[in-house]
Amino acid sequence: MVRILRDFLKDESAAAAIEYVILATGIAVVIITAVLPANSSRACRTCGRPMRFVTAIAKFGRHPELRTYECGQCKETSIEEWKPRENGVVGPFD
Ligand SMILES: [Zn+2]
Repeated sequence: MVRILRDFLKDESAAAAIEYVILATGIAVVIITAVLPANSSRACRTCGRPMRFVTAIAKFGRHPELRTYECGQCKETSIEEWKPRENGVVGPFD
C-alpha cells in the first residue's frame, strides 16, 4: 500500500516537472519574441549576418541622425536614418 502511494506521488512530481518545463518554455518564447527584433533588425543584405554599429552622424536642423553599420564578414556598410520611437523602442524596424 505504501509502495503504491509512493509510486503515485512519484508520478505527480513528474507531472509537475513537465508543467514547469512547459511554463518555462512559454516564458522563454515570450522573452525571445520581445528581444529578437532589436537584434535582428540590421541584417547584412549580402550574407544575412547581424551588422555592427560603427558611427552616428548627429542630427542637424531638420536632418535626422544617421547611423552607419558594417558587416564584419563581407565589409558591406549600411547608412540608416535613426528615428526614436514614441514607445521607447529604438531604431527603424520597418
Ligand atoms: Zn555580410
